[in-house]
Amino acid sequence: MDWNKARKIDAHIHILPEDKRLEFIKYQGEECTWGKAAELDVPVMYHSNPCRTGFHDSCAPDKINKMIKVFTDITFITAHMGGMKYLDAFSGCTWVDISFILPELVMLYGIKQTNRILRMFGSDRLIFGTDYPECNYEGYFSILNQTDFNEGEIEKILYGNIASIMDI
Ligand SMILES: [Zn+2]
Repeated sequence: MDWNKARKIDAHIHILPEDKRLEFIKYQGEECTWGKAAELDVPVMYHSNPCRTGFHDSCAPDKINKMIKVFTDITFITAHMGGMKYLDAFSGCTWVDISFILPELVMLYGIKQTNRILRMFGSDRLIFGTDYPECNYEGYFSILNQTDFNEGEIEKILYGNIASIMDI
């Protein structure tokens, strides 16, 4: 992995986003800190699928919101649209990715309500993500094709938004 392209902090390391240890952490011998991300001008995608009782664990969107407010020069991407706390991600986070959560929303709410939730975020904030690689990605394309997003909007979700963030 080229650490000069992106950073991912997974909540499974059990460190809160605001934990001062993230100023010093090394992963696989590479410095992996907020400061380094800002210095390199790379986006930070943060796993966010809180599922403990009360949905308030270390990856909850409100935790990521604190980092967005403090590190204003870092582009944060909230993975999984904040999971079942997607309303917090909507109001408190910036970019969100649809990995894992998209088929979950369809299973729970059906395509029409999922469409409404995606529309609430808008095609400018949604990013196709791979933070849950066990998924069948063809299913994501099928769901997006059932929404009322037009071809240009779907292209932004699948590629354009992340390409602009990554400057590629
Ligand atoms: Zn994740």
